Amino acid sequence: AVRDTAQEEECSVYLVGGFVRDLLLSFPTQDLDFVVEGNGGQFAQALMKRLPEGKLTQHVKFGTAHISFPNGSHLDVASTRVEYYSFPGALPQVEESCLRDDLFRRDFTINSMAICLNSEHFGELVDYYGGKRDLQQGKIRFLHNLSFIEDPTRMLRAVRFARRYNFKLAKETLEALFTAIETGVLLKLSVERFTEELFVIFQEDNYISMGQTLIRSGLFQGWFGEDYSWNFSEDDVQESVGWPLDQRWLSCISRINSEDIEKLCGRLSLNKTLRDETQIFLHLRAVLPKTQSISELDQLISKAPQGVIAVLAQDEHFRPRIMDCLESEKRIRMTLDGKKLLQMGVKEGPIIGEILEQVRRAWLEGKIHSTEEEREVAQQ
Ligand code: ATP
Repeated sequence: AVRDTAQEEECSVYLVGGFVRDLLLSFPTQDLDFVVEGNGGQFAQALMKRLPEGKLTQHVKFGTAHISFPNGSHLDVASTRVEYYSFPGALPQVEESCLRDDLFRRDFTINSMAICLNSEHFGELVDYYGGKRDLQQGKIRFLHNLSFIEDPTRMLRAVRFARRYNFKLAKETLEALFTAIETGVLLKLSVERFTEELFVIFQEDNYISMGQTLIRSGLFQGWFGEDYSWNFSEDDVQESVGWPLDQRWLSCISRINSEDIEKLCGRLSLNKTLRDETQIFLHLRAVLPKTQSISELDQLISKAPQGVIAVLAQDEHFRPRIMDCLESEKRIRMTLDGKKLLQMGVKEGPIIGEILEQVRRAWLEGKIHSTEEEREVAQQ
């Protein structure tokens, strides 16, 4: 469909960026990014005639379009463009240009290749900046000396790609990264952009080794201003692959004291779920040592998000009691509910909730073993 539309619209169309890189590496990839030499928006509209099930969203200001499909896949179309940064860390201003310039604005050589999709040159690789050589040699190399200054998020991206593919930073790129860290360029970034890039890292399979590199390189200290005791432990590498984002986040801050967690959260723009779960985690970590009975523990645990409990249970101080409580919860086979209590003659009101709570507690503490005993407890 893309090739035919390109012919019809008489424009050059290329696949670019991460898709080309991952294709050459035979690495699984989903995102399809196209650039059009010409009007990307008009091309996307024309393409839609051949992809009737797609849904088109246009961003006129950025000259880009996004097409999503019911099966969850999507593709992005942009016009070739150069971006100007009005100050370091700012969002880019966009101007139309040719493919060579468009590729030059990218972060690393391995991300600056394109594949032509026009009939005459279909499938040909366009590689102005040595991306294929760097892929073969396992190198992350910037395109020019001011790259990290122009956009400091590239510092985080460099770590991410290096650890993801087990590549090394090319000599000048590594030196520029350290210079950028020393001169504090990172601090030109907004909290939102830093957070966004950091959480892309947290979604990577090997975010743990990326975290270790962020600490070792001084990048974290450059941003947070202090050496916190982050937990990016080798012991978690296997298991953490299946962890959801909240559990990864809480686990990595789990060894930091509460005051410092508050401070570092001030340097991030966490979404509401992560903010709330961080607070619940801090609260539970503080009150768990003071909770005596199993039912008190159950009250705290049964209402807390799973990620919070999973991370607390990683702590050997809490693990036995949490496991004990979860085991005890399995004993609960409540058959009573509000409706049944009303049928038994209990008056409507807060008493219903209180009785149910008492019955649940009795199950938990092993004082009830059958439905009959459950009713007896309710009637008392
Ligand atoms: P991933 O596999 O993580 O999605 P990707 O390379 O596709 O990797 P995206 O963030 O989707 O990453 O970016 C798509 C392309 O846009 C990149 O390959 C790169 O060419 C370009 N790009 C993204 N972010 C930057 C940036 N900060 N500076 C320059 N170019 C960038």
